[in-house]
Amino acid sequence: MIGITGLTKSYNSRQVLKDVDLRILPGEVVAIIGPSGAGKSTLLRCINMLEVPDAGRIHVDGRQVFYTPNGRGKLGVLDQFRLTWLRREIAMVFQQFNLWPHRTVLDNLVEGPVIAKGQKRTDAVPRAMEKLRSVGLEDKADAYPADLSGGQQQRVAICRALMMDPKAILFDEPTSALDPELVNEVLDIMARLAKTGMTMVIVTHEMKFAREVADRVIFMEHGGIVAEGPPDEVFQHPRLRVYASHLS
Ligand code: ATP
Ligand code: MG
Repeated sequence: MIGITGLTKSYNSRQVLKDVDLRILPGEVVAIIGPSGAGKSTLLRCINMLEVPDAGRIHVDGRQVFYTPNGRGKLGVLDQFRLTWLRREIAMVFQQFNLWPHRTVLDNLVEGPVIAKGQKRTDAVPRAMEKLRSVGLEDKADAYPADLSGGQQQRVAICRALMMDPKAILFDEPTSALDPELVNEVLDIMARLAKTGMTMVIVTHEMKFAREVADRVIFMEHGGIVAEGPPDEVFQHPRLRVYASHLS
């Protein structure tokens, strides 16, 4: 589904991604964990071109979305058409929810498919209501984001991502901005989504969730992948044990 080869990215001559190779299979649920500054968000943001890599290749669903012809290159190889396609196929859920504050919950869900995919509003509304029902928020359709708790806003943001029928959803610390008592309501929705066969890449500090829900765990440090594999295996890695011991 997603193939990354030799991905490299620097900020101000500091390399934050160093020759990263990663393959995400269709239906796979992958958790990316690691200390602050490891490059987790940068990796995620490169996948849907919120950041432009310096070098490497990225494939999504069989299409090349980024490559550097001679090892190094410019964005010239990614045309606007493909960028639009990419953003429609790969949805993203952010730490800060990023809902439109001046639109109702329902409009937050409906606008993507209507504007980006040309769906009829009359078709999008019942789909949106169904999604809201599935996360227990159908009574909030006419509310504004500010009237919802953080956990409710994040559930809406997940519904909004799903409205685009994406091929994969990238989550960047979706529960880090939430009060502790609201974390589980979002993780529960994500665990349910994982069971439906959705391809998910999740940057998270929730170790228990990564261990129980992910098919595969990627442990990153200093811009590179230090360990990857099934959760039980990766959690035995000495570097990860050092990192995890600092968390508790
Ligand atoms: P965290 O767990 O804190 O979110 P992370 O693993 O997501 O960390 P990144 O956000 O990918 O880390 O950042 C990796 C490194 O790149 C950090 O040192 C960060 O300061 C730097 N960095 C990220 N974005 C930028 C930017 N736009 N400009 C300059 N430096 C940046
Ligand atoms: Mg981050």
